[in-house]
Amino acid sequence: MDSFLNDAQRARQRDFREFVARHVAPFAAEWDRAENLTGDVVARMSEAGYLGNMLPEKFGGQGWDMVTFGLLNEAFGRESAALTDLITVQAMVSMALLKWGTDNQKSRWLPPLARGEIIGAFGLTEPTGGSDLQALRTQFTDAGGGAFRLNGQKTWISYAQTAGVFVVVGHAGALPVACIVPRESAGVSVEPITGMVGYRAAGLGTATFTDVEVPAANVIGKPGFALSHVVPIGMQFGRLSTACSALGLLRACVEESVSRAATRRLGNAWVGDFGTTRAMIARMGTDLRAAELLCLAACRATDEREPEAFTKTLTAKYFASRAAVRAADDAVQIWGAAGCHESAPVSRYHRDAKLLEIIEGTSQIHEELISRAFLEAEPKHAR
Ligand SMILES: Cc1cc2nc3c(=O)[nH]c(=O)nc-3n(C[C@H](O)[C@H](O)[C@H](O)COP(=O)(O)OP(=O)(O)OC[C@H]3O[C@@H](n4cnc5c(N)ncnc54)[C@H](O)[C@@H]3O)c2cc1C
Repeated sequence: MDSFLNDAQRARQRDFREFVARHVAPFAAEWDRAENLTGDVVARMSEAGYLGNMLPEKFGGQGWDMVTFGLLNEAFGRESAALTDLITVQAMVSMALLKWGTDNQKSRWLPPLARGEIIGAFGLTEPTGGSDLQALRTQFTDAGGGAFRLNGQKTWISYAQTAGVFVVVGHAGALPVACIVPRESAGVSVEPITGMVGYRAAGLGTATFTDVEVPAANVIGKPGFALSHVVPIGMQFGRLSTACSALGLLRACVEESVSRAATRRLGNAWVGDFGTTRAMIARMGTDLRAAELLCLAACRATDEREPEAFTKTLTAKYFASRAAVRAADDAVQIWGAAGCHESAPVSRYHRDAKLLEIIEGTSQIHEELISRAFLEAEPKHAR
């Protein structure tokens, strides 16, 4: 895939990989065990500009294109899905505000988000479900003058534990509303979620909002805009980030499988001599090449504002996350019992991979959306 990159993108890819090799790879297993990003990695990422990646320079960001953002996520996804999720949610919050925030909202929130002084969280999912956004129960009640009172609960929220600001989505009567809720607002409480099978260091939490006052100045866009405008921007960046994170995990599985197959001796044979092992490596290697191209196509389409960017992003996320699950399963198989122990990175990849199929819309929701796009492209079959 490197041959499709320009010089600047290739140079940044090198920087990302070096950063990850130094500051992520040696610690990822420890974070997973601790269910926490111990140490100074977030400060180092902020310093390197990785949390303000695509934001314009005038807001303190790097102004990178989407392909570079994809390379960043892939490099981090190679070592830690949980840490990559921080890049995901920071981009979701930042880019939704960049697109739909008022001038005041942008100047208040984007510079600290770009510098990593504040972590953002994106609150969609509720205890009653995350796939059907029309059914969200979080309520904004009219408090006069365009202000609202917010009541509701958001769960499985990445980095809720450390977030300084939440984007919260709910309804005011029938109108979907998205707003900014600073963490210190009266009536906000966060309960950490521990014991996840994967993404264990992603600071998940349940945030409860009880009679939280939301001034009119904190509404994003306008009432009625949330699900048609604000959420799709967040989800577009969330899905691309997750697709490229899955690509990184897939690459890790291929590399770990190849290395094990080439170095594990059984009697007179290497594990890589067996046809069945080679078939697994052939399948995951082919998936890797396909996922690279789908991710690149989705990032480019977004950079170039192609109308197909949405569908290309869906297909990239759908394919890469499912391919990562298959590859992680086969990687553990190739490693044998050693792959079932926490000392082998493939055991963590196996646990993390499954969650890639759930976040940013499950595989089933992707199937629904992708099939709709294909059917609508052939109107004679659409219903
Ligand atoms: C690690 C992690 C991080 C997350 N971070 C965030 C976050 O930062 N912010 C946030 O808001 N949420 C977050 N989530 C939640 C995630 O977005 C939801 O889990 C996801 O949208 C699915 O919602 P659900 O879990 O409520 O499943 P449900 O919506 O209850 O779905 C259950 C099952 O039914 C299927 N299903 C549902 N509807 C349909 C349909 N119409 N057709 C076919 N099948 C269907 C689903 O595919 C799934 O298999 C995170 C989740 C995880 C695991």
